Amino acid sequence: MKHNADVIVIGLGIIGSGAALELSRRGLKVVALDAFPPKHTNGASHGQSRIIRKAYFEAPDYVPLLHRTYQMWRQLEQESERDLMTLNGALFVGAVNSELVAGSLKSARMHGLEHELMNAEQLTKRFPAWRLTSDMVAVYEPGAGTLYADACWTAQLMLAQKMGAHLRFGAPVISWSATDSAVSVRTKETEYVADKLVVCPGPWAPELLGGLDVGFRIQRRVNAFFKPAHPEKVSIDKFPSYCIETDGKFYYGLPAIGEQGLKVGRHDAGESCTAATVNRVVDDNEIGELKAFVEHFLPGQFDVCLDATTCLYTLTPDEHFVIDVHPEHGNVFVAAGFSGHGFKFGPVVGEILADLVAAGCTGHSIDCFAINRSAVRSSTAKRCADYKSFIE
Ligand SMILES: Cc1cc2nc3c(=O)[nH]c(=O)nc-3n(C[C@H](O)[C@H](O)[C@H](O)COP(=O)(O)OP(=O)(O)OC[C@H]3O[C@@H](n4cnc5c(N)ncnc54)[C@H](O)[C@@H]3O)c2cc1C
Repeated sequence: MKHNADVIVIGLGIIGSGAALELSRRGLKVVALDAFPPKHTNGASHGQSRIIRKAYFEAPDYVPLLHRTYQMWRQLEQESERDLMTLNGALFVGAVNSELVAGSLKSARMHGLEHELMNAEQLTKRFPAWRLTSDMVAVYEPGAGTLYADACWTAQLMLAQKMGAHLRFGAPVISWSATDSAVSVRTKETEYVADKLVVCPGPWAPELLGGLDVGFRIQRRVNAFFKPAHPEKVSIDKFPSYCIETDGKFYYGLPAIGEQGLKVGRHDAGESCTAATVNRVVDDNEIGELKAFVEHFLPGQFDVCLDATTCLYTLTPDEHFVIDVHPEHGNVFVAAGFSGHGFKFGPVVGEILADLVAAGCTGHSIDCFAINRSAVRSSTAKRCADYKSFIE
């Protein structure tokens, strides 16, 4: 059968659009399919902002990838002539032995990242909107900050198209299959055939990668946006992005950008669902919980809730990504399970996928993201495990 392309990409979220762009840069003929229109709100990549940071509490192994992804976002800024990233800093707040604080410090120290450790009083002196309890500390990473998510996604899609990728929106994939010599992808109207396939399904991972023994779990998350009482105190030039671990709960947020208000969300909890069945309506109790958090740690700074949205996490059991060759098909590549922290990696994951497709290997260290990582006896996987036991 005649091949339509060298590579088919399924999914054009921040990960698939990064892959389509980097594959096209290598001169490969790419057809990329998405079920929905550009920048839809049904998956995980929509919205105005995401945190970018290098003092990575999840594991220091991510830091080399973060160095590269920062470079790539700056390159995309130049190529797209859009502002994509502001380094307004980030705060990682909690008890000194919390996973968030200990993990951020460990990554920062191991990789020589610029950071400061502050107690509650020092933090309020430096960033007057904050009030912590005396048992809390904050790691401040000045080189962290904010990605303008909507602009980032637009830039990757636009540049992929400019590089020659054929982007097909409103094209839900019904099924895919692979033989040794070809892959085939079916939509309602068309069958596409190519040499290789890249699957970037976001929260549709259980449907598109059902055969993989990963244990993906899909969960709903809520973001609320609060109107600042004193906008000058919480604008992006004065207010760092933040993550806070308190009383066994994990919150995060970003400064007020434009008219949108302060962003707040809960990272560690949300209803289980599927991408098809998720409840998109946010109720008053959910907003109330986020408002109580804001009133406690940023008293008098925020007023009414301007907006509330939902988004989906695709969690793996250890909350590390899956980036790998499909175990049954050497010509199929998988990038999934970004576990609520994948946006910032869009460009570098695109580069890794392009390396795997074009060369069969990558210079980036990705053993940690192997599908069958418990069986991967590599030093990288061991470092992840050692690191987890260190912070526990
Ligand atoms: C509330 C929230 C806050 C977050 N905050 C941060 C943060 O601060 N920093 C950070 O780095 N990360 C953050 N993340 C995580 C990050 O946004 C995600 O990891 C990332 O967007 C995942 O991108 P994706 O491309 O894998 O998924 P998606 O964006 O969901 O893309 C998957 C695409 O595949 C398409 N697709 C699926 N099935 C089919 C099919 N059958 N046919 C055709 N197309 C299909 C979908 O339509 C979709 O467009 C956050 C996530 C959420 C939900």
